[in-house]
Amino acid sequence: MSVDKVCPRCNSTQIGQGILKGTASIVPKGKLTISGSAIISSICVECGYIISRYVEKPEKFK
Ligand SMILES: [Zn+2]
Repeated sequence: MSVDKVCPRCNSTQIGQGILKGTASIVPKGKLTISGSAIISSICVECGYIISRYVEKPEKFK
């Protein structure tokens, strides 16, 4: 996974990756499922701006 991104807020190229797991995971709406998908975020480590967010397993939402 490339991290060649630039923060649109402060132009920093110091982009870190975070993952929201556990209680913050996202589950498919209307589906009976125990486990959802974690949310992965690209975060500027300079100013805290969240550049992108996506789920780890998008196929769960089909
Ligand atoms: Zn920034």
